[in-house]
Amino acid sequence: MNGYNIAVIGSGISGLATAYELHSRGYNVTVFEKDLSIGGRLGTQKLREKDVSLGGKNIGKKYVEFRRMCRELHEDNFEKFGLNSTSSNTSLRIDKDRPFKSLLSILSNIPFSDILKMLPMIQAIKQNRENAYLSGPYFKTLKNKDTLLSDLFSEKSILGIIRPLVVRNNGAEANELSLETFGTNLAMVLDSYEQFTDGPQHLFEKLSDIITMRVNTQVSSLYVKDGVSEGVILQDGSKELFDSIVIATTADIASQLLKPVYSKLSKVLEKIRYNPVGILVAEYPADVFTTEQRAFIFPPDHHLSNAGAYGMNELNIVRYTFSGKTSHDFLASEPSSEELLRIAQQEFTEHTGITLPKPLKAKTGTVLSSGLSAYSKNHTHTLSEIRENLSEISDLYLAGDYIEGVSIEACYRSGLNVAKEIQIKKS
Ligand SMILES: Cc1cc2nc3c(=O)[nH]c(=O)nc-3n(C[C@H](O)[C@H](O)[C@H](O)COP(=O)(O)OP(=O)(O)OC[C@H]3O[C@@H](n4cnc5c(N)ncnc54)[C@H](O)[C@@H]3O)c2cc1C
Repeated sequence: MNGYNIAVIGSGISGLATAYELHSRGYNVTVFEKDLSIGGRLGTQKLREKDVSLGGKNIGKKYVEFRRMCRELHEDNFEKFGLNSTSSNTSLRIDKDRPFKSLLSILSNIPFSDILKMLPMIQAIKQNRENAYLSGPYFKTLKNKDTLLSDLFSEKSILGIIRPLVVRNNGAEANELSLETFGTNLAMVLDSYEQFTDGPQHLFEKLSDIITMRVNTQVSSLYVKDGVSEGVILQDGSKELFDSIVIATTADIASQLLKPVYSKLSKVLEKIRYNPVGILVAEYPADVFTTEQRAFIFPPDHHLSNAGAYGMNELNIVRYTFSGKTSHDFLASEPSSEELLRIAQQEFTEHTGITLPKPLKAKTGTVLSSGLSAYSKNHTHTLSEIRENLSEISDLYLAGDYIEGVSIEACYRSGLNVAKEIQIKKS
Protein backbone atom coordinates (compact mmCIF):
# COMPACT_ATOMS: atom_id res chain seq x y z
CA MET A 1 0.00 0.00 0.00
CA ASN A 2 1.24 3.49 -0.84
CA GLY A 3 -0.40 5.23 2.14
CA TYR A 4 -3.10 7.08 0.21
CA ASN A 5 -6.69 6.62 1.35
CA ILE A 6 -9.38 6.99 -1.25
CA ALA A 7 -13.16 7.07 -0.70
CA VAL A 8 -15.38 5.86 -3.51
CA ILE A 9 -19.08 6.75 -3.15
CA GLY A 10 -21.20 4.15 -4.96
CA SER A 11 -20.54 0.49 -5.73
CA GLY A 12 -21.98 0.35 -9.26
CA ILE A 13 -19.62 -0.64 -12.03
CA SER A 14 -18.17 2.90 -12.28
CA GLY A 15 -17.22 2.88 -8.59
CA LEU A 16 -16.04 -0.72 -8.63
CA ALA A 17 -13.79 0.08 -11.60
CA THR A 18 -12.12 2.97 -9.75
CA ALA A 19 -11.84 0.88 -6.60
CA TYR A 20 -10.35 -2.16 -8.35
CA GLU A 21 -7.89 -0.16 -10.47
CA LEU A 22 -6.70 1.91 -7.50
CA HIS A 23 -6.45 -1.15 -5.26
CA SER A 24 -4.34 -2.86 -7.96
CA ARG A 25 -2.04 0.19 -7.95
CA GLY A 26 -1.50 -0.02 -4.18
CA TYR A 27 -4.06 2.49 -2.88
CA ASN A 28 -6.15 1.95 0.21
CA VAL A 29 -9.74 2.16 -1.04
CA THR A 30 -13.02 2.28 0.87
CA VAL A 31 -16.26 1.96 -1.09
CA PHE A 32 -19.40 3.44 0.49
CA GLU A 33 -22.66 1.91 -0.68
CA LYS A 34 -26.06 2.99 0.62
CA ASP A 35 -27.75 -0.29 -0.35
CA LEU A 36 -27.38 -3.63 1.42
CA SER A 37 -25.42 -5.15 -1.45
CA ILE A 38 -22.96 -3.94 -4.06
CA GLY A 39 -23.35 -3.66 -7.82
CA GLY A 40 -25.85 -0.82 -8.23
CA ARG A 41 -27.63 -1.20 -11.56
CA LEU A 42 -25.69 -4.40 -12.19
CA GLY A 43 -27.30 -5.99 -9.14
CA THR A 44 -29.39 -9.15 -9.07
CA GLN A 45 -32.50 -10.45 -7.34
CA LYS A 46 -33.73 -13.96 -6.67
CA LEU A 47 -36.22 -15.62 -9.03
CA ARG A 48 -36.82 -18.73 -6.95
CA GLU A 49 -33.24 -20.09 -6.54
CA LYS A 50 -31.83 -18.27 -9.53
CA ASP A 51 -30.02 -14.90 -9.35
CA VAL A 52 -31.47 -12.79 -12.14
CA SER A 53 -30.26 -9.43 -13.29
CA LEU A 54 -32.68 -6.52 -13.19
CA GLY A 55 -30.19 -4.13 -14.76
CA GLY A 56 -27.14 -4.37 -17.01
CA LYS A 57 -26.66 -7.94 -18.18
CA ASN A 58 -25.27 -8.16 -21.69
CA ILE A 59 -21.50 -8.00 -21.93
CA GLY A 60 -20.11 -7.10 -25.35
CA LYS A 61 -17.10 -8.92 -26.72
CA LYS A 62 -15.62 -5.45 -27.16
CA TYR A 63 -15.91 -4.63 -23.45
CA VAL A 64 -12.15 -5.00 -23.15
CA GLU A 65 -11.45 -3.19 -19.89
CA PHE A 66 -14.38 -4.72 -18.00
CA ARG A 67 -13.42 -8.17 -19.29
CA ARG A 68 -9.77 -7.60 -18.26
CA MET A 69 -10.87 -7.06 -14.66
CA CYS A 70 -13.04 -10.20 -14.83
CA ARG A 71 -10.11 -12.19 -16.25
CA GLU A 72 -7.65 -10.90 -13.63
CA LEU A 73 -10.11 -11.97 -10.92
CA HIS A 74 -10.73 -15.33 -12.65
CA GLU A 75 -14.42 -14.51 -12.97
CA ASP A 76 -14.75 -14.55 -16.74
CA ASN A 77 -17.22 -17.35 -17.30
CA PHE A 78 -19.54 -16.00 -19.93
CA GLU A 79 -22.19 -17.73 -22.01
CA LYS A 80 -23.53 -16.76 -25.37
CA PHE A 81 -26.51 -14.50 -25.15
CA GLY A 82 -27.35 -13.97 -28.83
CA LEU A 83 -30.51 -11.95 -28.29
CA ASN A 84 -32.46 -12.00 -31.48
CA SER A 85 -34.94 -9.14 -31.66
CA THR A 86 -37.70 -8.55 -34.14
CA SER A 87 -39.57 -5.33 -34.63
CA SER A 88 -43.02 -5.36 -36.11
CA ASN A 89 -42.42 -2.06 -37.92
CA THR A 90 -39.81 -3.53 -40.20
CA SER A 91 -38.25 -6.88 -40.57
CA LEU A 92 -35.30 -5.63 -38.54
CA ARG A 93 -33.45 -8.38 -36.76
CA ILE A 94 -30.82 -7.45 -34.22
CA ASP A 95 -28.86 -10.60 -33.60
CA LYS A 96 -26.56 -9.56 -30.81
CA ASP A 97 -24.43 -12.61 -31.33
CA ARG A 98 -23.77 -11.88 -34.99
CA PRO A 99 -22.95 -8.21 -35.46
CA PHE A 100 -22.32 -8.54 -39.21
CA LYS A 101 -25.74 -10.11 -39.71
CA SER A 102 -27.29 -7.33 -37.61
CA LEU A 103 -25.51 -4.70 -39.63
CA LEU A 104 -26.77 -6.17 -42.90
CA SER A 105 -30.26 -6.33 -41.43
CA ILE A 106 -30.03 -2.67 -40.46
CA LEU A 107 -28.75 -1.51 -43.80
CA SER A 108 -31.37 -3.47 -45.73
CA ASN A 109 -34.15 -1.90 -43.65
CA ILE A 110 -33.44 1.77 -44.02
CA PRO A 111 -33.72 4.24 -46.91
CA PHE A 112 -30.61 4.68 -49.03
CA SER A 113 -30.26 8.33 -47.94
CA ASP A 114 -29.97 7.18 -44.30
CA ILE A 115 -27.45 4.49 -45.25
CA LEU A 116 -25.28 7.24 -46.74
CA LYS A 117 -25.52 9.18 -43.46
CA MET A 118 -24.85 6.17 -41.27
CA LEU A 119 -22.00 4.50 -43.15
CA PRO A 120 -19.27 7.02 -42.20
CA MET A 121 -20.42 6.75 -38.56
CA ILE A 122 -20.19 2.96 -38.65
CA GLN A 123 -16.79 3.23 -40.29
CA ALA A 124 -15.59 5.72 -37.65
CA ILE A 125 -16.49 3.27 -34.84
CA LYS A 126 -15.03 0.29 -36.66
CA GLN A 127 -11.75 2.13 -37.33
CA ASN A 128 -11.45 3.58 -33.84
CA ARG A 129 -13.44 1.98 -31.02
CA GLU A 130 -12.91 5.14 -28.93
CA ASN A 131 -15.79 6.55 -31.01
CA ALA A 132 -18.13 4.18 -29.17
CA TYR A 133 -17.59 6.42 -26.11
CA LEU A 134 -18.44 10.05 -25.41
CA SER A 135 -14.78 11.10 -25.28
CA GLY A 136 -14.14 9.64 -28.75
CA PRO A 137 -13.19 12.28 -31.34
CA TYR A 138 -15.65 11.57 -34.18
CA PHE A 139 -19.22 12.32 -33.06
CA LYS A 140 -18.44 15.28 -30.81
CA THR A 141 -16.66 17.15 -33.61
CA LEU A 142 -19.30 16.64 -36.33
CA LYS A 143 -20.62 19.96 -37.68
CA ASN A 144 -24.20 18.79 -37.15
CA LYS A 145 -23.53 17.17 -33.75
CA ASP A 146 -26.39 19.12 -32.13
CA THR A 147 -28.97 17.88 -34.63
CA LEU A 148 -31.68 15.75 -33.06
CA LEU A 149 -31.75 12.17 -34.32
CA SER A 150 -35.42 12.64 -35.27
CA ASP A 151 -34.45 15.60 -37.50
CA LEU A 152 -31.60 13.73 -39.16
CA PHE A 153 -33.07 10.36 -40.03
CA SER A 154 -36.28 9.27 -41.76
CA GLU A 155 -39.25 8.01 -39.77
CA LYS A 156 -38.69 4.52 -41.12
CA SER A 157 -35.14 4.45 -39.74
CA ILE A 158 -36.25 6.00 -36.47
CA LEU A 159 -38.96 3.41 -35.86
CA GLY A 160 -37.04 0.44 -37.19
CA ILE A 161 -33.55 1.02 -35.85
CA ILE A 162 -32.83 4.19 -33.95
CA ARG A 163 -35.70 4.14 -31.45
CA PRO A 164 -35.05 0.52 -30.39
CA LEU A 165 -31.45 1.52 -29.65
CA VAL A 166 -32.02 4.79 -27.79
CA VAL A 167 -35.06 3.62 -25.87
CA ARG A 168 -33.11 0.61 -24.68
CA ASN A 169 -29.90 2.45 -23.75
CA ASN A 170 -31.20 5.84 -22.68
CA GLY A 171 -34.93 5.31 -22.12
CA ALA A 172 -35.24 8.23 -24.53
CA GLU A 173 -37.04 8.93 -27.78
CA ALA A 174 -35.19 9.97 -30.94
CA ASN A 175 -36.37 13.57 -30.56
CA GLU A 176 -34.60 13.84 -27.19
CA LEU A 177 -31.08 12.88 -28.26
CA SER A 178 -28.68 14.53 -30.64
CA LEU A 179 -26.07 13.10 -32.96
CA GLU A 180 -23.15 13.86 -30.60
CA THR A 181 -24.08 10.92 -28.33
CA PHE A 182 -25.24 8.55 -31.08
CA GLY A 183 -21.92 6.67 -31.25
CA THR A 184 -22.69 5.10 -27.87
CA ASN A 185 -25.87 3.63 -29.38
CA LEU A 186 -24.65 2.70 -32.81
CA ALA A 187 -21.70 0.87 -31.27
CA MET A 188 -24.20 -1.55 -29.73
CA VAL A 189 -24.98 -3.18 -33.07
CA LEU A 190 -21.28 -3.45 -33.90
CA ASP A 191 -20.60 -5.81 -31.03
CA SER A 192 -21.76 -9.30 -30.01
CA TYR A 193 -22.96 -10.16 -26.55
CA GLU A 194 -22.58 -12.66 -23.74
CA GLN A 195 -23.75 -12.78 -20.15
CA PHE A 196 -22.23 -14.12 -16.91
CA THR A 197 -22.89 -17.87 -16.72
CA ASP A 198 -23.85 -17.58 -13.03
CA GLY A 199 -24.62 -13.87 -12.84
CA PRO A 200 -22.16 -11.25 -11.56
CA GLN A 201 -22.39 -12.32 -7.89
CA HIS A 202 -19.06 -14.20 -7.89
CA LEU A 203 -17.33 -11.14 -9.30
CA PHE A 204 -18.82 -8.98 -6.55
CA GLU A 205 -17.71 -11.51 -3.92
CA LYS A 206 -14.13 -11.48 -5.26
CA LEU A 207 -14.07 -7.68 -5.22
CA SER A 208 -15.46 -7.64 -1.68
CA ASP A 209 -12.66 -10.01 -0.61
CA ILE A 210 -9.95 -7.55 -1.65
CA ILE A 211 -11.54 -4.11 -1.22
CA THR A 212 -13.24 -2.60 1.83
CA MET A 213 -16.95 -2.35 0.96
CA ARG A 214 -19.07 -0.45 3.49
CA VAL A 215 -22.57 -1.50 2.47
CA ASN A 216 -25.68 -0.01 4.05
CA THR A 217 -23.63 3.16 4.54
CA GLN A 218 -24.98 6.26 2.90
CA VAL A 219 -22.78 9.30 2.38
CA SER A 220 -24.89 12.36 3.12
CA SER A 221 -22.39 15.07 2.17
CA LEU A 222 -18.77 15.86 1.56
CA TYR A 223 -16.52 17.24 4.26
CA VAL A 224 -14.89 20.33 2.79
CA LYS A 225 -12.41 22.59 4.62
CA ASP A 226 -11.07 25.81 3.09
CA GLY A 227 -12.41 24.73 -0.31
CA VAL A 228 -10.60 21.38 -0.21
CA SER A 229 -12.57 18.13 -0.04
CA GLU A 230 -11.13 16.29 2.92
CA GLY A 231 -13.59 13.49 3.56
CA VAL A 232 -17.14 12.28 3.73
CA ILE A 233 -19.94 12.79 6.22
CA LEU A 234 -22.12 9.75 6.73
CA GLN A 235 -25.84 9.67 7.43
CA ASP A 236 -25.25 9.18 11.18
CA GLY A 237 -23.29 12.47 11.18
CA SER A 238 -19.86 10.86 11.55
CA LYS A 239 -16.97 12.28 9.57
CA GLU A 240 -14.25 10.22 7.87
CA LEU A 241 -11.11 11.70 6.33
CA PHE A 242 -9.63 10.68 2.97
CA ASP A 243 -6.93 11.93 0.59
CA SER A 244 -9.29 11.86 -2.40
CA ILE A 245 -13.02 11.44 -2.92
CA VAL A 246 -14.59 9.82 -5.97
CA ILE A 247 -18.33 10.25 -6.51
CA ALA A 248 -19.47 7.32 -8.67
CA THR A 249 -23.23 7.72 -8.60
CA THR A 250 -25.82 8.95 -11.09
CA ALA A 251 -25.38 12.64 -11.89
CA ASP A 252 -28.53 13.64 -9.99
CA ILE A 253 -27.19 12.15 -6.75
CA ALA A 254 -23.72 13.60 -7.38
CA SER A 255 -25.39 16.98 -7.85
CA GLN A 256 -27.23 16.68 -4.51
CA LEU A 257 -24.04 15.68 -2.67
CA LEU A 258 -22.14 18.62 -4.16
CA LYS A 259 -24.83 21.27 -3.78
CA PRO A 260 -23.87 22.62 -0.33
CA VAL A 261 -20.13 22.63 -1.05
CA TYR A 262 -19.54 23.13 -4.78
CA SER A 263 -22.78 24.70 -6.02
CA LYS A 264 -21.45 25.62 -9.48
CA LEU A 265 -20.50 22.04 -10.30
CA SER A 266 -23.75 20.81 -8.76
CA LYS A 267 -25.71 23.10 -11.10
CA VAL A 268 -23.91 21.74 -14.17
CA LEU A 269 -24.70 18.16 -13.11
CA GLU A 270 -28.39 19.07 -12.84
CA LYS A 271 -28.44 19.32 -16.64
CA ILE A 272 -28.01 15.58 -17.00
CA ARG A 273 -31.31 13.85 -17.67
CA TYR A 274 -32.47 10.47 -16.45
CA ASN A 275 -35.41 8.42 -17.59
CA PRO A 276 -37.23 5.79 -15.59
CA VAL A 277 -37.04 2.11 -16.46
CA GLY A 278 -39.03 -0.86 -15.22
CA ILE A 279 -37.85 -4.46 -15.40
CA LEU A 280 -39.92 -7.54 -14.75
CA VAL A 281 -38.55 -11.07 -15.01
CA ALA A 282 -41.27 -13.74 -15.17
CA GLU A 283 -40.86 -17.52 -15.27
CA TYR A 284 -43.49 -19.56 -17.16
CA PRO A 285 -44.12 -23.32 -17.02
CA ALA A 286 -43.29 -23.74 -20.75
CA ASP A 287 -41.24 -21.99 -23.43
CA VAL A 288 -42.51 -18.60 -24.59
CA PHE A 289 -39.86 -18.10 -27.26
CA THR A 290 -38.25 -20.29 -29.88
CA THR A 291 -34.53 -20.49 -30.60
CA GLU A 292 -35.11 -18.43 -33.76
CA GLN A 293 -37.22 -15.78 -32.07
CA ARG A 294 -35.92 -14.79 -28.67
CA ALA A 295 -37.03 -11.18 -28.33
CA PHE A 296 -39.51 -8.56 -29.49
CA ILE A 297 -39.23 -4.80 -29.80
CA PHE A 298 -42.41 -2.80 -29.11
CA PRO A 299 -43.64 0.34 -30.89
CA PRO A 300 -43.76 3.81 -29.24
CA ASP A 301 -47.41 3.64 -28.11
CA HIS A 302 -46.60 0.74 -25.77
CA HIS A 303 -45.36 0.83 -22.17
CA LEU A 304 -43.04 -2.06 -23.01
CA SER A 305 -39.98 -1.30 -25.11
CA ASN A 306 -38.78 -4.88 -25.41
CA ALA A 307 -39.29 -8.37 -24.08
CA GLY A 308 -36.84 -11.19 -24.48
CA ALA A 309 -35.83 -14.62 -23.27
CA TYR A 310 -33.61 -14.33 -20.20
CA GLY A 311 -30.91 -16.53 -21.74
CA MET A 312 -30.17 -18.62 -24.81
CA ASN A 313 -31.62 -21.69 -23.15
CA GLU A 314 -34.10 -20.00 -20.85
CA LEU A 315 -36.90 -19.58 -23.33
CA ASN A 316 -39.53 -19.86 -20.56
CA ILE A 317 -38.14 -16.88 -18.61
CA VAL A 318 -39.14 -13.50 -20.04
CA ARG A 319 -37.42 -10.25 -19.19
CA TYR A 320 -39.86 -7.42 -19.89
CA THR A 321 -38.46 -3.87 -20.14
CA PHE A 322 -40.61 -0.75 -19.71
CA SER A 323 -38.94 2.35 -21.12
CA GLY A 324 -39.66 5.25 -23.46
CA LYS A 325 -42.09 8.15 -23.23
CA THR A 326 -45.34 6.14 -23.08
CA SER A 327 -44.11 4.33 -19.96
CA HIS A 328 -43.13 7.44 -17.96
CA ASP A 329 -46.42 8.21 -16.16
CA PHE A 330 -47.03 4.54 -15.46
CA LEU A 331 -43.54 4.07 -13.98
CA ALA A 332 -43.88 7.28 -11.95
CA SER A 333 -47.02 5.81 -10.31
CA GLU A 334 -44.73 3.30 -8.51
CA PRO A 335 -46.47 0.20 -9.88
CA SER A 336 -46.31 -3.03 -7.90
CA SER A 337 -44.80 -6.10 -9.56
CA GLU A 338 -48.39 -7.40 -10.03
CA GLU A 339 -49.25 -4.26 -11.96
CA LEU A 340 -46.03 -4.49 -14.02
CA LEU A 341 -46.91 -8.10 -14.84
CA ARG A 342 -50.48 -7.28 -15.81
CA ILE A 343 -49.50 -4.56 -18.28
CA ALA A 344 -46.51 -6.52 -19.60
CA GLN A 345 -48.51 -9.66 -20.30
CA GLN A 346 -51.40 -7.74 -21.86
CA GLU A 347 -49.14 -5.80 -24.25
CA PHE A 348 -46.99 -8.85 -25.01
CA THR A 349 -49.92 -11.03 -25.99
CA GLU A 350 -51.66 -8.30 -27.99
CA HIS A 351 -48.50 -7.39 -29.88
CA THR A 352 -47.00 -10.81 -30.55
CA GLY A 353 -50.07 -13.02 -30.66
CA ILE A 354 -48.29 -15.45 -28.35
CA THR A 355 -50.42 -16.97 -25.60
CA LEU A 356 -48.41 -17.05 -22.37
CA PRO A 357 -48.32 -20.46 -20.63
CA LYS A 358 -50.06 -20.70 -17.24
CA PRO A 359 -49.72 -20.72 -14.29
CA LEU A 360 -46.86 -18.28 -13.77
CA LYS A 361 -44.10 -19.94 -11.71
CA ALA A 362 -42.32 -16.87 -10.31
CA LYS A 363 -41.64 -13.21 -10.91
CA THR A 364 -39.42 -10.39 -9.68
CA GLY A 365 -39.15 -6.81 -10.79
CA THR A 366 -38.11 -3.27 -10.05
CA VAL A 367 -38.65 0.30 -11.17
CA LEU A 368 -35.70 2.67 -11.22
CA SER A 369 -36.70 6.33 -11.35
CA SER A 370 -33.22 7.41 -12.51
CA GLY A 371 -32.74 4.23 -14.50
CA LEU A 372 -31.19 5.27 -17.79
CA SER A 373 -29.17 8.37 -18.55
CA ALA A 374 -30.27 10.41 -21.57
CA TYR A 375 -27.16 12.62 -21.17
CA SER A 376 -27.86 16.37 -21.53
CA LYS A 377 -28.67 18.85 -24.26
CA ASN A 378 -25.31 19.85 -25.80
CA HIS A 379 -23.66 17.11 -23.83
CA THR A 380 -20.14 17.73 -25.15
CA HIS A 381 -20.39 21.24 -23.75
CA THR A 382 -21.79 19.97 -20.44
CA LEU A 383 -18.88 17.54 -20.12
CA SER A 384 -16.34 20.31 -20.69
CA GLU A 385 -18.10 22.45 -18.06
CA ILE A 386 -17.82 19.52 -15.63
CA ARG A 387 -14.10 19.14 -16.39
CA GLU A 388 -13.52 22.90 -15.98
CA ASN A 389 -15.22 22.92 -12.58
CA LEU A 390 -13.37 19.83 -11.41
CA SER A 391 -10.02 21.34 -12.38
CA GLU A 392 -10.63 24.05 -9.77
CA ILE A 393 -11.30 21.53 -6.98
CA SER A 394 -8.49 19.41 -5.62
CA ASP A 395 -8.92 15.74 -4.74
CA LEU A 396 -12.49 15.39 -6.03
CA TYR A 397 -13.33 13.11 -8.98
CA LEU A 398 -16.48 11.99 -10.80
CA ALA A 399 -17.24 8.69 -12.52
CA GLY A 400 -20.53 7.44 -13.92
CA ASP A 401 -22.82 6.75 -16.86
CA TYR A 402 -22.88 10.34 -18.10
CA ILE A 403 -19.13 10.64 -18.69
CA GLU A 404 -18.24 8.03 -21.32
CA GLY A 405 -21.67 6.50 -22.00
CA VAL A 406 -24.15 4.22 -20.31
CA SER A 407 -22.81 0.79 -21.26
CA ILE A 408 -21.06 -1.33 -18.66
CA GLU A 409 -17.78 -0.86 -20.56
CA ALA A 410 -18.27 2.90 -20.81
CA CYS A 411 -18.98 3.10 -17.06
CA TYR A 412 -15.93 0.93 -16.37
CA ARG A 413 -13.82 3.29 -18.48
CA SER A 414 -15.05 6.34 -16.59
CA GLY A 415 -13.92 4.66 -13.36
CA LEU A 416 -10.63 3.53 -14.86
CA ASN A 417 -9.86 7.05 -16.10
CA VAL A 418 -10.40 8.43 -12.60
CA ALA A 419 -7.99 5.82 -11.20
CA LYS A 420 -5.35 6.82 -13.77
CA GLU A 421 -5.84 10.52 -12.98
CA ILE A 422 -5.45 9.93 -9.24
CA GLN A 423 -2.32 7.89 -9.87
CA ILE A 424 -0.76 10.68 -11.97
CA LYS A 425 -1.64 13.36 -9.39
CA LYS A 426 -0.38 11.34 -6.43
CA SER A 427 2.88 10.12 -7.98
C1 LIG B 1 -32.50 -2.04 -16.94
C2 LIG B 1 -31.11 -1.78 -17.41
C3 LIG B 1 -30.56 -2.62 -18.37
C4 LIG B 1 -29.26 -2.39 -18.82
N1 LIG B 1 -28.69 -3.27 -19.69
C5 LIG B 1 -27.40 -3.14 -20.04
C6 LIG B 1 -26.73 -4.14 -20.77
O1 LIG B 1 -27.32 -5.19 -21.08
N2 LIG B 1 -25.43 -3.94 -21.12
C7 LIG B 1 -24.76 -2.81 -20.78
O2 LIG B 1 -23.57 -2.66 -21.14
N3 LIG B 1 -25.34 -1.85 -20.00
C8 LIG B 1 -26.63 -2.00 -19.62
N4 LIG B 1 -27.22 -1.08 -18.80
C9 LIG B 1 -26.43 0.10 -18.37
C10 LIG B 1 -25.52 -0.20 -17.18
O3 LIG B 1 -25.95 -1.31 -16.46
C11 LIG B 1 -25.46 1.02 -16.24
O4 LIG B 1 -25.21 2.20 -16.99
C12 LIG B 1 -24.37 0.86 -15.20
O5 LIG B 1 -24.56 -0.33 -14.47
C13 LIG B 1 -24.35 2.07 -14.27
O6 LIG B 1 -23.32 1.91 -13.33
P1 LIG B 1 -22.87 3.09 -12.38
O7 LIG B 1 -21.83 2.57 -11.48
O8 LIG B 1 -22.50 4.28 -13.17
O9 LIG B 1 -24.18 3.53 -11.57
P2 LIG B 1 -25.02 2.67 -10.50
O10 LIG B 1 -25.01 1.25 -10.87
O11 LIG B 1 -26.32 3.36 -10.37
O12 LIG B 1 -24.18 2.81 -9.15
C14 LIG B 1 -24.29 3.88 -8.26
C15 LIG B 1 -24.30 3.33 -6.84
O13 LIG B 1 -24.20 4.42 -5.92
C16 LIG B 1 -24.99 4.09 -4.79
N5 LIG B 1 -25.27 5.35 -4.08
C17 LIG B 1 -26.08 6.35 -4.51
N6 LIG B 1 -26.07 7.34 -3.61
C18 LIG B 1 -25.24 6.98 -2.60
C19 LIG B 1 -24.81 7.61 -1.39
N7 LIG B 1 -25.24 8.84 -1.04
N8 LIG B 1 -23.95 6.94 -0.59
C20 LIG B 1 -23.50 5.70 -0.94
N9 LIG B 1 -23.89 5.05 -2.07
C21 LIG B 1 -24.73 5.70 -2.90
C22 LIG B 1 -26.21 3.42 -5.41
O14 LIG B 1 -26.93 2.67 -4.46
C23 LIG B 1 -25.56 2.57 -6.49
O15 LIG B 1 -25.21 1.29 -6.01
C24 LIG B 1 -28.51 -1.28 -18.32
C25 LIG B 1 -29.09 -0.45 -17.36
C26 LIG B 1 -30.36 -0.69 -16.89
C27 LIG B 1 -30.92 0.21 -15.83
